[in-house]
Amino acid sequence: MSTDDLLARHRAVMPDWMPIYYQEPVEIVSGSGRRVTDATGRTYLDFFGGVLTNMLGYDIPEIREAVQRQLATGVVHTSTLYLIRNQVELAERIVAVSGIADARVFFTNSGTEANEAALLAATNYRRSHQILAVRNSYHGRSYATMGITGHRSWSASALNPLQVSWLHSGERLRGLLARLGPDEQLDAAEEDLREILATQTAGDVACLIAEPIQGVGGFVHGPDGLLGTWKKVLDESGILLISDEVQTGWGRTGEHFWGYQAHGVVPDLLTFAKGIGNGFALAGVVGRADVLNCVPAISFSTFGGNPVSTAAGVAVLDYLRDHDLQANAARTGALLHTGLDEAAARHPIVGEVRGKGLMLAIEIVRPGTSEPDPAATAAVFEACRAGGLLVGKGGLYGNVLRMGPPLTLTDDEAREGLAILVDAIASVSASVSATVEGVTA
Ligand code: PMP
Repeated sequence: MSTDDLLARHRAVMPDWMPIYYQEPVEIVSGSGRRVTDATGRTYLDFFGGVLTNMLGYDIPEIREAVQRQLATGVVHTSTLYLIRNQVELAERIVAVSGIADARVFFTNSGTEANEAALLAATNYRRSHQILAVRNSYHGRSYATMGITGHRSWSASALNPLQVSWLHSGERLRGLLARLGPDEQLDAAEEDLREILATQTAGDVACLIAEPIQGVGGFVHGPDGLLGTWKKVLDESGILLISDEVQTGWGRTGEHFWGYQAHGVVPDLLTFAKGIGNGFALAGVVGRADVLNCVPAISFSTFGGNPVSTAAGVAVLDYLRDHDLQANAARTGALLHTGLDEAAARHPIVGEVRGKGLMLAIEIVRPGTSEPDPAATAAVFEACRAGGLLVGKGGLYGNVLRMGPPLTLTDDEAREGLAILVDAIASVSASVSATVEGVTA
């Protein structure tokens, strides 16, 4: 069965709004380490890991064996009405690494539900449905999480159970805070927050929810300390801070285990998903006991934290620690970052290289401007695939290439992927300058 047939069948039964990558879509049929093979037998180095979700890579024996041990018991599901040993063990470990004192964990199946649960706790704790969110954010696809998503392409409905006010993001290329130095940006962010509280809110505000590095938004992030600057103002009136660590958690940023740690702050609630299950559906919220415990009705998630996904989660956390993958992310990420910076200096279609650790993005613009160039972005994206590298796309204007490889990436693989990326940038850059010269001639 060729991929063409599968594409036609996909289109016949799936909704049109579910995007699929590449002019000729890829069907991944097997994987090992950081490499995947498609239905035609072509192998790719994977720098996107199923959207930062295959955090350790493919076919990792330790994870496979942990899941097989659970399957061998015959129990895939019991429900949280019964004690689940794997769930308790995973919660203990997450509490221990969360940095939040006397924390509780509630497991869900997705990042969306994790953020819903965090919002449920925060709104009940503060008895307020007023929320502060950040422009260019992405938090999920339910009504409440779409309502705090500051990204029109992903906002499929304006129906919103929350009252939301919007802070400026750390965008440095365009917008009101563009090109400010880090200190000026922190001052401007504080002023922005104070003004919003004074002009757009009434009485108690429940919380601010923020991604330390905006994932879907194209890995845009403010200066270190930004969450701390906001928290100082929030603390004056007891407003809670939720750190959405769905993409930034578990050491991916290299310098820290959580994205929030770059900001001199501890959040009241932290949401996680994606990488913790290395592909198994596992997500949740960890936070202050008094905040999470305040939900005033019975609530549970049928599949959240089930015995199989939590078996995977425990094995993933052990693997991260045993192989010091945070340090690996810092080293291989620095290698990639330096190489991309060098390419950016040679090719003016690269407007900015940004990110931390193994969460890196390049923004493609019209040379000499900050104007987004989605067509050139798509060309680089396709050229990477032709060269044997899978990367992601994103950003408010669809002009950002995102790299979030498995944290097990080796130095050689980092160099190999970098070479493919740089070649792709160079070839598209050459054709863009040829077109510009053609127009001006
Ligand atoms: N928060 C962030 C920061 C995300 O990147 C995502 C997914 N891209 C979500 C929440 C939603 O997670 P899910 O798709 O698992 O519902």
